[in-house]
Amino acid sequence: MTDRELISLANEAMANSYSPYSHFPSGAAIECDDGEVFTGCVIENAAFGHTLCAETVALSSAVAEGKRSFRRLAVISDGVNYTMPCGACRQMLAEFSPQLEILAVRGDGRYVSHTLDKLLPHPFTYRT
Ligand code: ZN
Repeated sequence: MTDRELISLANEAMANSYSPYSHFPSGAAIECDDGEVFTGCVIENAAFGHTLCAETVALSSAVAEGKRSFRRLAVISDGVNYTMPCGACRQMLAEFSPQLEILAVRGDGRYVSHTLDKLLPHPFTYRT
């Protein structure tokens, strides 16, 4: 799958955004190591702490299906800035794939690529 195809799936997912409070729709598509792709959209809630970012929804869908390793994530919004995963999402993603490639996409389709370890160089880990 090309970057553009992954971004297209994230863009399609954005159409289902539920963002009545921020009016900041976003979508995400995460590619598993086996090539399967899961998508997600932002799901806001009046109790703001329960809002789910698009990346978390995509990741959660994949994990719920037994996936544990990922190679790429595209995240998009309709804004003029590149859509970067928030800090909480970076931590969620690092739990599974610290080297994940992140495609941060603007509303006009332009994007930049970063690896997660550059965006979150020192994630929290729990080791016994
Ligand atoms: Zn987030």
